[in-house]
Amino acid sequence: MNNFGLIDLQVNGHGGVDFNQLPLSPEDVQKVCRSLRNEGTVGFLPTLVTNDPNLTATLAKIISNTAERYNPETEAEILGLHLEGPFISPQPGARGAHNERWITKPDIDWVRRMQDITGGKIRILTMSPEWDNSTRFIAAVCQLGIKVAVGHTLAAAEQIIEAVDAGATLSTHLGNGLPAMLARHPNPVWSQLAQDRLWASVIGDGFHLPKEVFDVIYRVKKEKMFLVSDSTSFTGMKPGRYNAPIGGDVVLTTEGKLYLAQNETLLAGAAMSLRQTVDTLIARKWLTAEEALTLTSVRPRQYLENINL
Ligand SMILES: [Zn+2]
Repeated sequence: MNNFGLIDLQVNGHGGVDFNQLPLSPEDVQKVCRSLRNEGTVGFLPTLVTNDPNLTATLAKIISNTAERYNPETEAEILGLHLEGPFISPQPGARGAHNERWITKPDIDWVRRMQDITGGKIRILTMSPEWDNSTRFIAAVCQLGIKVAVGHTLAAAEQIIEAVDAGATLSTHLGNGLPAMLARHPNPVWSQLAQDRLWASVIGDGFHLPKEVFDVIYRVKKEKMFLVSDSTSFTGMKPGRYNAPIGGDVVLTTEGKLYLAQNETLLAGAAMSLRQTVDTLIARKWLTAEEALTLTSVRPRQYLENINL
């Protein structure tokens, strides 16, 4: 990374370009790189959600090939890929807007194939440790140089601890990817908050978490928290009803909230870029300007590059 700026470790799309849907051309990917750079983002991880594994492989190859064409003058750098799924919880609520049809138990051979196809560009894999044999799988993924994140999970407390012992280092968008109703305790939020070795990424658009939850995660995780946009292709588009590859029809409101048309309580990713997130959090006084910039530049970079605090 040559430039100092925002680092977004979860980007599903931007400005009408969807990384999770064909057709996807190198020019489409480069358009996102330029748009993000214009907003101050210097590096990001295109994120592929649960999908037909053959489609995921095709999309990953297109994106990783485009990464080789990086122009540091005009583009945000593709720092690798984030695979969110398909080894997440199949449970309603926990799986969020991910397509149940393609959710499956951990398969290290598939991860190895993905790493081969992309020339080693898979950087983060988000999975749920509620599957059998998760610890062995997590250790094997770490061996490949891929960071393992816990997310979209209903794992038990012991399974979270075992995942961390096996090498998991991150909670993906902590506080989201969960059913609306949870047991008071134990539940996966407490279990992950209590693990000091886990970093936490948080969607800071003001819709995914109420302020008090955001504040508590920040107070507990401190310098081990960073913000992600989780932005979909609808980021920067006009309000309205659209068809999305995950979950079907979605609605984008004027305030920037994106939800499944069938159920307003189910968010379908976010529609705010990381730059907009920074502006929003400062304007709402959820964070100071210094904190907002640190959580969107220094912290994600420290996490991704293993820079000691
Ligand atoms: Zn998610």
